[in-house]
Amino acid sequence: MSRTLMHTLKRFRNKVSIAAVHDDHLSSILAQAGLLEPILAATAKCSTCGLPLTLENLAGWLIHNGRLQPFCDRAICVTNISATETRPGNE
Ligand SMILES: [Zn+2]
Repeated sequence: MSRTLMHTLKRFRNKVSIAAVHDDHLSSILAQAGLLEPILAATAKCSTCGLPLTLENLAGWLIHNGRLQPFCDRAICVTNISATETRPGNE
C-alpha cells in the first residue's frame, strides 16, 4: 500500500468514524468501480459539477449508459444525478 493511500485512508478514518469499520471494504469497492486510483490521484471529477472528487466529498456513483458517473455530496449534484437516473430515455 502506498504512503499516499495509507495517509488518505487514515484521514478518512479520522473524519468519518461511522465508516471506519468498513474502510477496507470501501476501498475495495472503490477499486472495483475503478474509482480508487483516480480519486487518490486527484483526477476524478464529479460528473455533474466537475468538482474534483475526494474520499471526503464522494457521495456515490452510478453506471449510466455504460459510463461510470461518480458524483459529489453537494445537494444539487445528488438531485441532478437522481434526475439522470429516473428520466426516461435520457442519454
Ligand atoms: Zn458535484
